[in-house]
Amino acid sequence: MSSLVWPSATLLITNGQVCTLDPCEGSALGLCDGGTVVIGDDTILYAGPATEVPHDIEIPPDVTVIDAQGRTVVPGFVDPHTHLIFGGWREDEFEERLQGVTYQAIAARGGGILRSVRQTREASRETLINNGLRALDRMLLLGTTTVEGKSGYGLNTATELRLLEALELCDRMHPIDVVPTFMGAHEVPAESRPDTESYVRQVIEEQLPAVVEQGIAQFCDVFCEANVFSLDQSRRILEAAKSLGLKLKIHSDEFENLRGTEMAIELGAVSVDHLHMISPAGIAALANSNTTGVLLPGTAFYLGGKHYAPVKDMLAAGCRLAMATDFNPGSSVTENLQLINTIAVTQMRMDPIAALQAMTINAAHAIDRQDTIGSLVPGKQADIVILDMPNYRHLAYHYGVNHVWQVIKHGQVVVRERRLVKSQRV
Ligand SMILES: [Zn+2]
Repeated sequence: MSSLVWPSATLLITNGQVCTLDPCEGSALGLCDGGTVVIGDDTILYAGPATEVPHDIEIPPDVTVIDAQGRTVVPGFVDPHTHLIFGGWREDEFEERLQGVTYQAIAARGGGILRSVRQTREASRETLINNGLRALDRMLLLGTTTVEGKSGYGLNTATELRLLEALELCDRMHPIDVVPTFMGAHEVPAESRPDTESYVRQVIEEQLPAVVEQGIAQFCDVFCEANVFSLDQSRRILEAAKSLGLKLKIHSDEFENLRGTEMAIELGAVSVDHLHMISPAGIAALANSNTTGVLLPGTAFYLGGKHYAPVKDMLAAGCRLAMATDFNPGSSVTENLQLINTIAVTQMRMDPIAALQAMTINAAHAIDRQDTIGSLVPGKQADIVILDMPNYRHLAYHYGVNHVWQVIKHGQVVVRERRLVKSQRV
């Protein structure tokens, strides 16, 4: 009678090609044709062959059943690196770049991130939140159920706090879980230039204590790159964040190798992100660590670059790799992890199985949520996507379309037959 003793099902998904992403004998994906997923409230009770559902799970006669009709059932996608909230778009810079003006040249004249900073500082709280919610709606329709979002378009204490508050409100108002990251060290603001050092002191002495006092941010991130923050400055910011109890991330090895990857791993960073220019020493350090490498191939693709992270070398060395959209208004304007999957497979020659792991269980590792999301395992959060494909291999192969048929978040159907169940707009 008591659900404490006999777990009771509230939702069943039947007749799917279930990929639990929990490796089992003979299958790195935990693959099961004709599989069943049993959900009790917001929790997965069982995922696997229909014939092996444990007898101690009570299946009430009126339980809701979704017949997947042979479709593919996977964990909700996790996007572990986005710049979710910003004040405006930069489509004119996109066209300039296509004509050969470099990202660095646009940044040097006050465009790029600095332009987004101006737009963001001018935007109202409602505009910022609504921009975030619209992006989250698009992500949910595309199968993303958890997303990391960074501040970093404020670059002063008040606006950075406002962005973190907006991220928290988006988390509360939308079915997608939003994991907030403080990134005051995203760029040096115009008013501090050329004195980068004074801004680093402001981040450490003023912004970080205020962010920790506010109590929203879970991670601190820093852009370790030539003409942004040096290796030493990045280290000091991350050490200060760590001493205040924040978990660490880094943007490293995107355009130049400053050895930021090795430094962040040494400090125990949860993830190191970008890695286009990672060195053999960086690969070895990553492989021998508990840190997850986050690939952002959308940036190289979108900027028309040819240089991608050396995925084959990293996988051969044993690195754990995730992938993310890097959604932002400049270098990667997409909410679509399915598209990133195809870019990873075709441009970086990533194995399709590794690519699916990279957007589920390994992406969960990249935000330190591997114990609650990223795979279909009893006890984990019931975040599940049903893809209108006959098997998982179609995800990379059949590209540029949205395969999502249904999305279940915390055990509730939030996308039904390709439509949001209800508007999440405020
Ligand atoms: Zn980024």
